[in-house]
Amino acid sequence: MSVSSSLSTLAVALAEAASATQVQAALASSLPGGLSRPAAGPEEREALEVAAALVEAALARVEAQREARVARRELAARQAEGAALQARFDALFNAAPVGIAAGRRDGTLVRANDAYLDLLGFTREEFQAGAVNWVELTPPEFTEVDWDALRRAIGDGRAVRYAKEMRHRSGERIAQEVTLLPQWEGPEAVGVAYVRDLRPERAAALGHALELQARGEELERLNAELAARTEALERFAELSRDLALERDPLVLVGRAQEIAVSLMPGSVCTYYEPQGGLWSLRSHRGEFRQPELLARLRSGLTRGEALNVDRPFETLTPYYQDTFDPATVRSAGGSISVIRTTASFPVRTGARPRGVLVVGRHDQRAWTPAEKTLLETVVFNLQLALERAEQSGELQRRALALERSNAELERFAFVASHDLQEPLRSVTSFAQLLVKRFGGLEGDPKAAQYLRHIQEGTQRMQNLIQDLLTYARVTAEPRPPARQDTNAVAATALQDLRASLDATGAAVTVFDLPPVMADGTQLRQLLQNLIGNAVKYRHPDRPPVVMVTGEQRGSWVHIDVQDNGIGIPSEYHERIFTVFQRLHARDQYGGTGVGLTIARRIVERHGGQLWVSSDGSNGSTFHLTLPAATD
Ligand code: ADP
Repeated sequence: MSVSSSLSTLAVALAEAASATQVQAALASSLPGGLSRPAAGPEEREALEVAAALVEAALARVEAQREARVARRELAARQAEGAALQARFDALFNAAPVGIAAGRRDGTLVRANDAYLDLLGFTREEFQAGAVNWVELTPPEFTEVDWDALRRAIGDGRAVRYAKEMRHRSGERIAQEVTLLPQWEGPEAVGVAYVRDLRPERAAALGHALELQARGEELERLNAELAARTEALERFAELSRDLALERDPLVLVGRAQEIAVSLMPGSVCTYYEPQGGLWSLRSHRGEFRQPELLARLRSGLTRGEALNVDRPFETLTPYYQDTFDPATVRSAGGSISVIRTTASFPVRTGARPRGVLVVGRHDQRAWTPAEKTLLETVVFNLQLALERAEQSGELQRRALALERSNAELERFAFVASHDLQEPLRSVTSFAQLLVKRFGGLEGDPKAAQYLRHIQEGTQRMQNLIQDLLTYARVTAEPRPPARQDTNAVAATALQDLRASLDATGAAVTVFDLPPVMADGTQLRQLLQNLIGNAVKYRHPDRPPVVMVTGEQRGSWVHIDVQDNGIGIPSEYHERIFTVFQRLHARDQYGGTGVGLTIARRIVERHGGQLWVSSDGSNGSTFHLTLPAATD
């Protein structure tokens, strides 16, 4: 077949070819030998050239078709991508927690997210219908604020943040923080606004401020309370000092009532003591708003019919009535109903209840723990003060009585011993006259014995009187203490005792004694008594040995008088210092039982002490302290 005749077949086949391969297949099937076969003549060559042109055109078409397909696919892919992006953007845009809107100057909105529409109270449908216009929704006083922000945003090309208000669909004003960003949409400038609702923040701030204010007020109130309480406590401390000095129980109660009333302003405070079948009002403080009530209380309440007095007295514990029931104190009459709250306390001294203190308030208010503590403290202090007053009163009474009886005793001892000496002397001298007159009474042994008894009796009496007089003189005729050379005083005391020392063969050694501050006569008396006793109460089996030693310790001189006599059992170590107390019969050891009483009195008058130590059989040691002499 000639090339020319195949051209139409080729053209048809090529027109159907949709790819380069199909072009080649069409060529191969329509023109066996292809385009490169030798041309048989010019006609055939021309036909081959046409065929080549057809093939080329077919290839170009196929290529163009392929390119168009690729382009279409790409476009579709791009479109899908764009839609996905848009969908993502829309999702993000709508779900943003802040309101976002893009708007034009005329107030129309290009876009608005859900948060923005919610903020202003519109639905998306309303927005789409063009019902939302940001300019219209802005109150006029913020218009300029908006334009100014927009100008700055466009001028700087940056976001501007500012606060404004918009009107909610309901008319409510909504405080907002706007971040405005300029954007160009074609030739037109569009403002994109990020809008944050400031209401929760403002409300929180307001709440916070309110809370702060409330706290401040609470603090102020606490402060005031504290100040009041401090003041009350100060007053309390002041009055407590008075309580410490005062002795009259009713004055003390009155003071405590003053404290109670000052701590509970507007209250009244009454104090009752039992008197027969009545509670007798002994003291009251505070202003009675109902004078009749005071008159009724003054006439006494019936015991057993006044609950808030009866109960604390019986139970010995405080009784609080946050809401006072007037019916429980019937005997007070109706006027007591002005009292709305009461607290009653038993007042006792020691275990003994003596009365009841009642605090009544004119307003009804529950007692706070702090108030209870305050009142209980007041009553506690009152009780302490009452006890102290009672004790110190009793002590003072006893001391006074003792002083008085002591003084009387001394006066008596002095007068008696002094005055007794006179009749005694006359008894003695008349007895002697009798002896003289009846020539010794040798012929009448009975009469001689009577006379001897008289003489012994008068002698003993004289000794007794003498000792009592000495005892009384220790305090009746005191001389101011002066520096004493103790050694020299001891020497004179020994001189006075010379006779008995010689008679008993006693060995008395006085070691170096420090000087003391004392009444010289009394010091001599003291040493004489102690050394005299040391010799007198000697042991029958051994000659008496007495040692007097002394040393200064600080401002005191300690002197010991030690003997080897009969000793003193420990149960008598105190008793021997009592007047007329003796451990032996007179015929065994003579004496009056006054010597050690005088000795102790002398030492104590000088501020020192006198005591004995002894194991009861191997002698005794008398210890004493006297003030050391000051140079
Ligand atoms: P008096 O010596 O006149 O009896 P005192 O008051 O001097 O009275 O002494 C009281 C009692 O203390 C004495 O009766 C005696 O029993 C006892 N006594 C005093 N000194 C001594 C002593 N040194 N040794 C033993 N007993 C003593």
